[in-house]
Amino acid sequence: MAREFLHTEIEYLKGVGPLKSEVLKKELGIFTFEDLLNHYPYRYIDRTKIYTISEINEDMPFVQLKGQISGIKEIGVGKNKRLTAVFKDYTGAIDLVWFQHIKWIIKTIEPEKTCIIFGKPALFNRTFNIVHPEIEWVEESKNASKMQPVYSVTEKLKSHHLDSKGISKLILTILSNPQFAVEETLPEYILNKNSLQPKKNAYTLIHNPSSNSDFIAGQQRFKYEEMFFLNIKIASLKLKRNRISKGFVFSKIDYFFNTFYNNYLPFTLTDSQKKVLKEIRADFATGKQMNRLLQGDVGSGKTIVALLSMLIAIDNHTQAVLMAPTEILAIQHFENISKMLSGIGLKIELLTGTTTKSRKEKIVHSIFDGQTDILIGTHALIEDDVVFKNLGLVIIDEQHRFGVAQRAKLWDKYATKPHVLVMTATPIPRTLAMTVYGDLDISKIDMLPAGRIAIKTVHRYENRREEIYDFLKSQISMGRQVYYVFPLIEESEKSDFQNLIDGFENLKTVFSNNKYKLGMVHGRMKAKEKETVMNFFKKGQLNLLVSTTVIEVGVDVPNATVMVIENTERFGLTQLHQLRGRVGRGKEQSYCILLTSQKLSNTARERIKAMTQTTDGFEIANLDLKLRGPGDLLGVRQSGLLDLKIADIVKDEELLTSTRNDVLAIMKNDPNLKNPENSPIRNWLETLRNIKGDWGRVS
Ligand code: ADP
Ligand code: MG
Repeated sequence: MAREFLHTEIEYLKGVGPLKSEVLKKELGIFTFEDLLNHYPYRYIDRTKIYTISEINEDMPFVQLKGQISGIKEIGVGKNKRLTAVFKDYTGAIDLVWFQHIKWIIKTIEPEKTCIIFGKPALFNRTFNIVHPEIEWVEESKNASKMQPVYSVTEKLKSHHLDSKGISKLILTILSNPQFAVEETLPEYILNKNSLQPKKNAYTLIHNPSSNSDFIAGQQRFKYEEMFFLNIKIASLKLKRNRISKGFVFSKIDYFFNTFYNNYLPFTLTDSQKKVLKEIRADFATGKQMNRLLQGDVGSGKTIVALLSMLIAIDNHTQAVLMAPTEILAIQHFENISKMLSGIGLKIELLTGTTTKSRKEKIVHSIFDGQTDILIGTHALIEDDVVFKNLGLVIIDEQHRFGVAQRAKLWDKYATKPHVLVMTATPIPRTLAMTVYGDLDISKIDMLPAGRIAIKTVHRYENRREEIYDFLKSQISMGRQVYYVFPLIEESEKSDFQNLIDGFENLKTVFSNNKYKLGMVHGRMKAKEKETVMNFFKKGQLNLLVSTTVIEVGVDVPNATVMVIENTERFGLTQLHQLRGRVGRGKEQSYCILLTSQKLSNTARERIKAMTQTTDGFEIANLDLKLRGPGDLLGVRQSGLLDLKIADIVKDEELLTSTRNDVLAIMKNDPNLKNPENSPIRNWLETLRNIKGDWGRVS
């Protein structure tokens, strides 16, 4: 019964009809009464408070004033025609101005009669005025003194009389219908435990509140519900995953690991690296498939951990694969790893999107018959024809750049799933990690190799470029190398590309040719060209490398000590941290210079301040999360946490934890939701599955 009423098509709501219903469907995706009720206000205007004119200041949003209107006059002609009046209360006077509907307004205004006006005050010629105020005559204004909901609407909606007030009116029509009933979706004991309002009340509280505490109670209920069902979805995905978790047992540490560890390891491992390696070895021994996330700040030395893990896989007669997000990084891994392992006789191959067809055929053969021990590459590894004889370990570097489904393609084709290690420099806060990755084990490298000197980071305005050029020259004269980055965030952006080329030409004249060697890399170059330039830079044959963010992740040239970033304001915080991580890898003092224009937005200023104040990746990630939201955090996009309508995983972190705990307790005691007190949950899940077919299924 309740369901039928709420599922009525919106067209049949009094005041809607066929035309408006089309607009509501198109603009807001509102098809039913229920959809409309789920279009929550995004803020409220406090209409319980009446200000006096003496209290007004320019920063105020909308205010209510109580007084009388007088001195109405029409001034100007044609386009400049307007209506003005004076509004007085016992503390002062302001002007009122109308540009439209002048005739009608003159008719409705009753001079010297007490009214309440409502609008946004602005300062004009040293007097405050309000343009197009709302006016309510005092006898009729009893209803007005409450919280007024504000809904997001589009221009199209407004042109169909569906502005915020129009939407509010429609919603009130539903709420006051005698048939209005709502099926409760949360068990009563959950409502009681968390002091939540029943769903029906919550709709009234959120859409028609009389006070702050009303709409807060309404919001709390819907936030809880949203997070609750999301956690149920995540938990059921995990259950499914755990059932298919049989994995290889790597029982021994043998020739390859030992030979490398004892004779070729180029440095002593940090305690953190050793700890992580132990955790990985423990996973290998359990007989369950490893599913581990390795977090470690830029430069903390994740690659060597990956390499040692691969050697264990090979000691246990399986193959290993390492996937990197960019070609430059894949090539670098291939070269470093080939060099480090050159003494122990393993077959290592590189496969990227630009590998020639005939070369690829050979590689595909040699992994299929098991000759290749380690395959390194980019997305190209995901293709269907890349099939291993016996794949034991998958390592994914900087994995936030790959989608879940994309990654799974690497191992879906095998009966025994390989162990998986994903590595990232972007840490994810604990609560989020538990929600998104309750089933994923997390390892952390939480210290940098000894002897690193903290990078000095400064912010400079563009007009000080000359000074910076001199500084770069002095660094180069000491034998150091420089990265010089231009924003080319979408590699297709034409004007950005021109800036890069112009910037390069300019730098070539500043650092004139016979004395300095400059190179450039960007995404439009062929892989071979990129590789050649990067190799020159690595070998120290280039003093300065102009580039785009293609060098953002992973690139490792310890002799480079300066990172200059042009138009820093255009980069995200995590991205800046990654870029900065390209320097400070050797024994010399390194510098990061953030160039910006003089005009900066507040958030850009905050990002730059954070960069100059800390080099701690965790702090930076947390701030980035606050400034930008969680969109870039690994796994979050796929988890559905971003589809929340009212809850916010950053601001409502506590709620995320408590709903998660409630859900875990329910799943533990009543995994199939058979208990009658949990029937609201079961019924609602059924409804959801009927509405959205794929809801609750694995991606
Ligand atoms: P990231 O974690 O950013 O991938 P890398 O694996 O590229 O870091 O390592 C950064 C640099 O630190 C490399 O030059 C690497 O050789 C070096 N390195 C890694 N571990 C150690 C260590 N334990 N001692 C000294 N240098 C190390
Ligand atoms: Mg790396």
